[in-house]
Amino acid sequence: MGLTTGFLTIGRQDRPYEKVEARLKTWKEFIKKLPPEEIGKQGARCMDCGIPFCHNGCPVNNLIPDWNELVRRDRWQAALEVLHSTNNFPEFTGRICPAPCEASCTLNIDDNPVTIKSIECAIVDRGWEEGWIVPQPPAAKTGKRVAVVGSGPAGMACAQQLARAGHAVTLFEKADRIGGLLRYGIPDFKMEKPAIDRRMRQMEAEGVEFRIGVEVGVTISVKSLLEGYDAVALTGGAEWPRDLEVPGRALPGVHFAMDFLTQQNKRGAGDDEARAAPRGTISAKGKHVVVIGGGDTGSDCIGTSNRQGAASVTNLEVMALPPDHEDKGLTWPDWPLKLRTSSSHEEGCDRDFAVLTKRALGQRQARSDRMRAHRVGEGRRRPHADEGNRGQRIPDQGGSRAAGDGIPGAAAPRNDRAVGRQARSARQHRGHRDGLQDLGAETVRGRRHAPRPVAGGLGDPRRPPMRPRHRRVPDGRELAAAVATIVELL
Ligand SMILES: Cc1cc2nc3c(=O)[nH]c(=O)nc-3n(C[C@H](O)[C@H](O)[C@H](O)COP(=O)(O)OP(=O)(O)OC[C@H]3O[C@@H](n4cnc5c(N)ncnc54)[C@H](O)[C@@H]3O)c2cc1C
Ligand code: SF4
Repeated sequence: MGLTTGFLTIGRQDRPYEKVEARLKTWKEFIKKLPPEEIGKQGARCMDCGIPFCHNGCPVNNLIPDWNELVRRDRWQAALEVLHSTNNFPEFTGRICPAPCEASCTLNIDDNPVTIKSIECAIVDRGWEEGWIVPQPPAAKTGKRVAVVGSGPAGMACAQQLARAGHAVTLFEKADRIGGLLRYGIPDFKMEKPAIDRRMRQMEAEGVEFRIGVEVGVTISVKSLLEGYDAVALTGGAEWPRDLEVPGRALPGVHFAMDFLTQQNKRGAGDDEARAAPRGTISAKGKHVVVIGGGDTGSDCIGTSNRQGAASVTNLEVMALPPDHEDKGLTWPDWPLKLRTSSSHEEGCDRDFAVLTKRALGQRQARSDRMRAHRVGEGRRRPHADEGNRGQRIPDQGGSRAAGDGIPGAAAPRNDRAVGRQARSARQHRGHRDGLQDLGAETVRGRRHAPRPVAGGLGDPRRPPMRPRHRRVPDGRELAAAVATIVELL
């Protein structure tokens, strides 16, 4: 343990945010950095617990007390090395991870956890600034070829680990840019995308070949991958949105979150409107927007709508209002259920809880202009509308966003014909996905009998809904280890 009394004498100090008015004018990240001396002091608050409960909370298996102590001693480069030993991309997690480690920290028992996420981010940001992060090409090549399908954080981590182990890795991505949901889901104001480009350049120098615009199973066959590679790793993610099957769902103006968010990130990347929104612009400018779903995706829609200039934003959540503060005795060191107010909520929206959306209202072929919602019965675990009341009308001038997540391959329905088209495309995608997953299932048999085995995905294809999302980097690392074991057996 470093400073024995640090946790008693030094107060918790976290990164401040830009003021709301300033950050709403830009798409840039708005969390301000703390100076290195302050980060060192925050590291000194760590008690180096005999049982570090932060480890229990951290999905990336970060060696938290070790790097806390190293920054306290001003040994930043050593801290970076320890951080990278468990986490390929700490600049991603240091920006967007919900930090369950801080919820688990022993100092959270009295609400003053170590600022673990800020320390993590400061270490890796400094590593980039100082030029300490360089490509790590393998000392020797194995002569084995591995295909990784999907370039989200799971695929990137998997590819980097395998390339560093000396395998020739090709990363296939069907989208026009690398990064998965980091690129086209998470808004720029939460994570600016040059962070992904920088890692891509590092991975290219380590030997990873990136092939964008290639949909495995469509552009190229799975068979050709099986013939051309010693192993195939599936990290295809989860793109099928959770729909809201209510009357009026197909009215124009009711969209899936991802159709809305992806367009904005493409504009941010410099794409013109034809490339950013080939199926039509979805804009919140001047509109009354209803965001259905009170989680992170909903928050991102709120932040994006406010930056686009929405007239108002209303956020509906089906679950009851959680308590402001958790009962520590019951919840610590687990992730507690409590009211969470994101930076996007702070930027302006009306939040309502225990509300079940019943229908979208509007003229046929015209935009949805109202939503009808019912209060959910008190105390019920699963939401049931109280059918006794007629519900509440919420203005919505063509800006509803159905937030959700799910399994691969989706498009937003605009009208009934489009719904039909979507259903067909859904069936095709589902078949394609099932094919890929069957392929994963073949792995175990393949390991014993097939000359060219396939490694099943440990990313989202294994767990269709996107949670637990911050597990992606370790998932990719686990998958890389499994693939390496397989190819070594060949
Ligand atoms: C709006 C939004 C906000 C989020 N915010 C946060 C947050 O704040 N914090 C957090 O921790 N997590 C967040 N998440 C979740 C996080 O982004 C995901 O859990 C994570 O990106 C999943 O990683 P993945 O590598 O498994 O898949 P993905 O990121 O989905 O990547 C999969 C990739 O595979 C590609 N692909 C699929 N099939 C094929 C094929 N057949 N051929 C070629 N390529 C293919 C896809 O195009 C995609 O690029 C958010 C997600 C969304 C949607
Ligand atoms: S639980 Fe908190 S105080 Fe204890 S080792 Fe982890 S970060 Fe340090």
